[in-house]
Amino acid sequence: MNMPYQTGDTAFVAEASAFTQTSIPCPICFGKLSVTLILGNGESQTVECEACGKGCYGPTGTASVYKATSSVRRITITGVMEDGWEDRWIVSEGHSTYRLSDGNVFPAEAEAEARRAVLMAEAEKQAERNMESNMRGHKKQMTWSANYHRQEIARRKREIEWHEARLAMKK
Ligand SMILES: [Zn+2]
Repeated sequence: MNMPYQTGDTAFVAEASAFTQTSIPCPICFGKLSVTLILGNGESQTVECEACGKGCYGPTGTASVYKATSSVRRITITGVMEDGWEDRWIVSEGHSTYRLSDGNVFPAEAEAEARRAVLMAEAEKQAERNMESNMRGHKKQMTWSANYHRQEIARRKREIEWHEARLAMKK
């Protein structure tokens, strides 16, 4: 297999990521910091928003999510190599390595831009899927929390009733 690049060549690398962290207004509570669940019996229950909650700090109205980003990077090749599986790699300054079989390295910028568009579309789909499953998880969590707090309230009410009954007996 011949290596199309040589040390000292310029190349263009297309890259995309679905995991660039960003802050957005909370898509679950829309900044209200709480949401209302409608229970099976029609009763409403307001609970703290878990989608923008940050541990013990409580809801903030701002959710931290991942979004897709992409770029085309111009690199100068500082080395070329072949691994044990006969896959060819190039090395750029900063010791980043790129596997040529990934198909993201190009000699011309325009080709890299075309590839970037494809990668970006994939990353956007991935980011959307992540966001959806993330938000589904938050909704489930809130239902669980509402149930937990209701059960705790019911349990403590029974305890109070028991203590009140004991006091009444002593009169
Ligand atoms: Zn929220």
